[in-house]
Amino acid sequence: MFNAILLNKNDDGTTNAQMTQLDQSHLPADGDVTVRIEYSTINYKDGLAITGKMPVVRTWPMVPGIDGAGEVIASSHPDWKAGDPFILNGWGVGETHMGCLAQQAKLKGDWLIKRPAGISARTAMAIGTAGYTAMLSALALEEQGVDKNSGEILVTGASGGVGSIAIAILSGWGYRVVASTGKLDEADYLRSLGATEVIDRAALSAPGKPLQKERWIGVVDSVGSHTLANAVAQTCYGGTVTACGLAQGMDFSASVAPFILRGVRLIGIDSVMAPIARRIAAWQRLATDLDLEKLATITQEISLAQALVKAPEILAGKVRGRLVVNVN
Ligand code: NDP
Repeated sequence: MFNAILLNKNDDGTTNAQMTQLDQSHLPADGDVTVRIEYSTINYKDGLAITGKMPVVRTWPMVPGIDGAGEVIASSHPDWKAGDPFILNGWGVGETHMGCLAQQAKLKGDWLIKRPAGISARTAMAIGTAGYTAMLSALALEEQGVDKNSGEILVTGASGGVGSIAIAILSGWGYRVVASTGKLDEADYLRSLGATEVIDRAALSAPGKPLQKERWIGVVDSVGSHTLANAVAQTCYGGTVTACGLAQGMDFSASVAPFILRGVRLIGIDSVMAPIARRIAAWQRLATDLDLEKLATITQEISLAQALVKAPEILAGKVRGRLVVNVN
């Protein structure tokens, strides 16, 4: 038997989330690698799943947890054997396939990546999907040739998981990063991560003009809605905006003007179904480039039971940085 969070759908459509004990017979038959989870994490999407605020979970009952790190217990997959350290991010785990907010899981070997040297299971989950998505966003800016000497990068949702790690990565690469936040009292924290300036997110969150004063050479946006539209409208000629999130909203009421008059590029970032080679590249860069001391300052460790309490808090924007879950 092992401990897990289990989600069930109530008759009225709401979600019931509780701690329970499961055995291996509860784990999905289509998995080919049984793993011991050492650490998991709570991302925004896990918050949505546990609270039932958005229809993230498609199969019931469900163990939430889109991220896991630990060790293989048993495997019928040719690439994996008992004792191998792994990282799992996404692929519908915690949505359609039982997830990692549990002490064991049964996953597909094709989904797993080897944990890079120098990254412990705890560090991997302090990074989690949020940090790996921040790296995918940063890599997109780099690949688009955004020149660190030519101006400023805007990071929205700055005190959140994606935002905090994006600031640490990009400032580490030598970019000048401006952090947009609703938590102005966290300005010192954001500067300690590497932000050169902190701005009030209210300046970006209301509908704005289609073309505004050019300021950003690149943007990492985890907020969506009017914030993304304004960020695009303020991007310099030829600049690149990456969009990964919807913390303000899924809507995007914008104009084509920045694209057709300024050649602004808008790049969508998806972590869930990203190909394995892309994941390995992102995790390698995280292993070499992310300042682990900064990561430690943004990380809070919680227990499996506390994950139930923290889920609504992350949706309310009350969590700073990353929550790592010690499931044992
Ligand atoms: P967090 O909850 O840690 O951070 C989100 C941050 O957004 C908050 O801390 C807050 O930052 C800001 N925010 C919250 N509500 C609002 C609002 N109403 N208006 C403007 N800003 C707001 O979440 P994550 O960093 O883990 O994820 C961020 C987003 O990215 C989520 O929407 C998530 O679903 C998405 N995501 C997408 C992925 C993908 O594959 N595309 C992968 C990972 C995440 P502050 O107080 O500093 O303003």
